[in-house]
Amino acid sequence: MKYSFLGILVLIFSVFAACGANIFSTAQEIDMGADFAGEIEKNTKILDNIEWNGYINDIGQRIVAVSDRQDIEYHFKIIDDDSTVNAFALPGGYIYVYSGLLLKADNEAEVAAVLAHEVGHVVGKHGVKQLTKMYGYQFIVALALGEDPSLLEQIAADVLGGVGMLYYGRDNEYESDEFAVKYIYILGYDPNAIVTFFNKLSEFQTKDPSYIEKLMSTHPQPADRIKKVQEKIALLPPKEDLVLNTELYRQRLKRLYIK
Ligand SMILES: [Zn+2]
Repeated sequence: MKYSFLGILVLIFSVFAACGANIFSTAQEIDMGADFAGEIEKNTKILDNIEWNGYINDIGQRIVAVSDRQDIEYHFKIIDDDSTVNAFALPGGYIYVYSGLLLKADNEAEVAAVLAHEVGHVVGKHGVKQLTKMYGYQFIVALALGEDPSLLEQIAADVLGGVGMLYYGRDNEYESDEFAVKYIYILGYDPNAIVTFFNKLSEFQTKDPSYIEKLMSTHPQPADRIKKVQEKIALLPPKEDLVLNTELYRQRLKRLYIK
């Protein structure tokens, strides 16, 4: 009886999977993420504005510097789509935020909160875990080996369509929220920005269900998350001079987004 090399690999990985281990090395995660990011960027329009992309990347890299995962390079980019209020992280440190979300934010702290949440997904390696759960080990192994480009297309379409790996599961979302509270607090932002942003999302949801549908379908109920985030914030030691950077953000938005 003859087994294929891939078949044996899948078998080995499945055993690891049964034990709940993360079967991918960091190098494999980065490779997969880079392919994935390429596919996403083929199907979206990255905002053509060096200043805004630079601004978002600066905030992102400051978060990364205080994060719990430094073994990869992080990339932050803006997708030019004013009607979508969303952000997502791919495996390997590729993080995207829609311009629609930037328009809904009232201050820099809210933007930092969203980016820190997405960094949290990379820190927790939620992307690889969720991909594996959704598409199965055999597919993900094939993906990691670069054997099935059409699969990558399919997953990219799922991500952009608002289904699939954007929702990392309730526990992973809570974990990322916790990372977000911690990171933006360390950076001197008021962590209540997470609460104000969630509240805003609930408000849109009641006003216009379809508008925010995508974001809500991919993340747990804001009410639950707000409660948990507030509990975490209450445990933080008091800190002076926490900032929201509202005026700075408003000016930037005015200058660059009024078309
Ligand atoms: Zn999330």
